[in-house]
Amino acid sequence: KPRLVLVLGDQLSHDLSSIRMAEKGRDAVVMAEVMDEATYVPHHPKKIALVLAAMRKFASALKDDGWTVAYTKLDDEANTGSITGELIRRASEFDADEIIATTPGEWRLIDALNDLPLVVRQLPDDRFVTSPKEFANWAEGRKELRMEWFYRQVRRKTGLLMEEGEPVGGRWNYDSENRKPAPQDTRSPEPLTFEPDAVVTDVLDLVEKRFAENFGELHPFGFATDRKQALAVLDHFISCGLPRFGDYQDAMIAGEPWLWHAIISPYLNIGLLNPIEVCRRAEEAFRAGAAPLNAVEGFIRQIIGWREYVRGIYFLEGPDYTSRNALVHDRPLPALFWGGGTHMRCLGEVVGQTRDHAYAHHIQRLMITGNFALLAGLDPGAVHQWYLSVYADAFEWVEAPNTIGMSQFADGGLVASKPYVSSGNYISKMSDYCSGCHYDVKAKTGERACPFNLLYWHFIERNRERLQNNPRMSVIYRGWDKRDADQRDEILTDATAWLDRMEKGETV
Ligand code: FAD
Ligand code: SF4
Repeated sequence: KPRLVLVLGDQLSHDLSSIRMAEKGRDAVVMAEVMDEATYVPHHPKKIALVLAAMRKFASALKDDGWTVAYTKLDDEANTGSITGELIRRASEFDADEIIATTPGEWRLIDALNDLPLVVRQLPDDRFVTSPKEFANWAEGRKELRMEWFYRQVRRKTGLLMEEGEPVGGRWNYDSENRKPAPQDTRSPEPLTFEPDAVVTDVLDLVEKRFAENFGELHPFGFATDRKQALAVLDHFISCGLPRFGDYQDAMIAGEPWLWHAIISPYLNIGLLNPIEVCRRAEEAFRAGAAPLNAVEGFIRQIIGWREYVRGIYFLEGPDYTSRNALVHDRPLPALFWGGGTHMRCLGEVVGQTRDHAYAHHIQRLMITGNFALLAGLDPGAVHQWYLSVYADAFEWVEAPNTIGMSQFADGGLVASKPYVSSGNYISKMSDYCSGCHYDVKAKTGERACPFNLLYWHFIERNRERLQNNPRMSVIYRGWDKRDADQRDEILTDATAWLDRMEKGETV
């Protein structure tokens, strides 16, 4: 009997475990564009177009390779609207009663597959360097799940940047060399983009028709949508971006969304690139003298360190992780997150480029939108939904630990040992945003005081009970408590008034 081989939109890899287990000529690959997946959050139109176009091209490649592919387009009349509905429909069409799947990257779909009235084999997704089981073993019995220790274990396992059991250069981590502020004079490389071909054009028409209301600009669309193009993006980064990736990893410049970043997360996350091949390419560049160690180590750490670590956390912590709210924050997201306008130039820039490109780099996500959400006490569940919607690389296993854990401290400090919060000073140091802002980054109180300055202390004061005894925070409390009481009152009163204006829907 034929079996059905499920391939999801973020599983577009030819060496996928479900495809490896299938038999050409006997089994049928099932791929489906369904409304359930396109609407579980209001995805950015560019993200929907990327996934649909890449799915269509991947299905064609499988067919060319001799596979039977049962492909459902979003507008097909028989489309049942869900992955499980499509599996049931195809099972009766092919007279199959067994499904081979690679375990999905989110609990929602894992549970849906388990609930099917068919035999479903969920195979490990081995496109990662480590498995959830390996991570759980590493985590067991540890008081703190520090990424750095996990990363060193993965360096040893892969041999990346290792020589005779020791890290190349004698140190594991070169981050101290990687925090240069934005350069004034040098221009960063343009990202590699692709003119829409016939497949992409069809998908863009569809997305334009069906998802016109979603936040985000669909055009111009230049994402890579197949493996060959994704490899070209990787090549482009290795030669043009990687050499300076480390230096300016944390820098932010108005009007320059890309800087020296790789812009490969969408391709890694949907399966067009493999994390190990990406790291080997970076390592080769270092060994050939084409990129310095601080850049290459930093880049490799993001992939075999952070990326693997957050996946480990997602599967270790279980389905309730996304509803955690350790700081009991409950303010709704203000309209400025959906392009509603703001006087804060930093937020205006980051939300604007997110709308245009479905992209923001890590420090923009962490220290602008994330920092603001945390300081303003926004509901972490709503913040999570926002990040899951607006970025082309957003899939729950990677987005949730970054948002709930690293950025919003809503898991109580599992991922981040202290909240990532800062006043305007950090933003002023690392970017050129403040120079053209309505607010004054140097002002601590009053009408024009930078909201990050006001809200920072509001956050510190309102979380005193929870954070004061955190060894990494106590010095902040000591400094705050030494200040003049009237000055503290003035800051807190101004912060509360500012938050009230935001909650009333005023442009802030
Ligand atoms: P580069 O800066 O060039 O880094 C290279 C690669 O390292 C990335 O492509 C990515 O695969 C990996 N990487 C770097 N940092 C992280 C990290 N913290 N976690 C996992 N992988 C990392 N990344 C996603 O892939 N999907 C998300 O939905 C996502 N949501 C985020 C939400 C928040 C609040 C924050 C703070 C970070 C989030 N990140 C997410 C991590 C990071 O911001 C993006 O991976 C990165 O900006 C992607 O751009 P790039 O390819 O140019 O990355
Ligand atoms: Fe952002 Fe404050 Fe700087 Fe304005 S002054 S750009 S609000 S940090």
